[in-house]
Amino acid sequence: MKFNFKDILGNEKGYKEILTSPNIELLPLLEAAYEIRKKYWGKKVNVHIINNVQNGDCSQDCSYCVQSKESKAEIESYSMKSEDQILEEAKIAYESGAFRYCMVFSGPKPSKSRVEKLVGIIKKIKATYNIQVCVSPGFVDYDDAIKLKKAGLNRLNHNLNTSKNHYHNICTSHTFQDRINTIKAAKSANLEICSGCIIGMGETEDDIIDIAKTLSTLKIESIPINFFLPISGLPLKTKKALTPEYCLRVLCLFRFLNPKAEIRIAAGREFHLRSMQAMALFPANSLFMEGYLNSNGSNTIDTLQMIKDAGFTINSDKRIEEILMNENIKEKKI
Ligand code: SF4
Repeated sequence: MKFNFKDILGNEKGYKEILTSPNIELLPLLEAAYEIRKKYWGKKVNVHIINNVQNGDCSQDCSYCVQSKESKAEIESYSMKSEDQILEEAKIAYESGAFRYCMVFSGPKPSKSRVEKLVGIIKKIKATYNIQVCVSPGFVDYDDAIKLKKAGLNRLNHNLNTSKNHYHNICTSHTFQDRINTIKAAKSANLEICSGCIIGMGETEDDIIDIAKTLSTLKIESIPINFFLPISGLPLKTKKALTPEYCLRVLCLFRFLNPKAEIRIAAGREFHLRSMQAMALFPANSLFMEGYLNSNGSNTIDTLQMIKDAGFTINSDKRIEEILMNENIKEKKI
């Protein structure tokens, strides 16, 4: 039976049923989400490549994060990469068909000198490549945000991660409101905002609905949806395993409540969606390739081939067929 989101608009019980009720079957749900995705984004997929420009040794206690002070996970910690390395990685991202290059820093807040360094790097990337640039710098105030905006930064990432009610269960070293303040500061500087969540951290369905609604109220342009990866050494333990179907239902709910947003399938795509990954392109219009901050993900060939096989294409000035051909030759697959 066809599913029409308008029939349950504003009905919290209906939202919960999207996530849990066997009476709402998955395929009609995906079809309804796809209609909205197609209206705003057509069949294009925005491919993001993340660059962990600084890793580990964070003073915060976010229990889901391998870089937190409480984590025992074995990761490689390093301070900020050199400018040359960051620029070289921007070049690789552009040549792999990435629509956006995302530079991510560990730590709660960038120093003033780091903001100045970033300003220089952003200007160089924007002057050299036709690529969108996003930075995840930690907490920023208006002064930092306006400097980054003037340098040419397109978007600033600062995830809410979970609902206001659940926040104290996953982090005690800062508050949900601290995160909201950074988002508001960046918005005042006219930066686009990327802010998403992590599903599978012991939250309830009400929490998931609450995050989706909060992001909608904040008019967030880009929403990465991560599915919690139970990496060994993390303080946070998985309470309930996610299923591919549940992940797809979450993506549909976010699409319904944030129809125009760029919704990104983020970390956990390969682990939790498994053979259903291509189905996620129907509600979502964006993904990461070549891995995440501290975990591996699908490489360029597998990701682009999946997009092509599912009948989608990429948002890039390069053709997907051409990139695939070059990557296959590089890997000596043809
Ligand atoms: S502030 Fe960021 S880097 Fe630090 S522990 Fe939290 S999520 Fe990880």
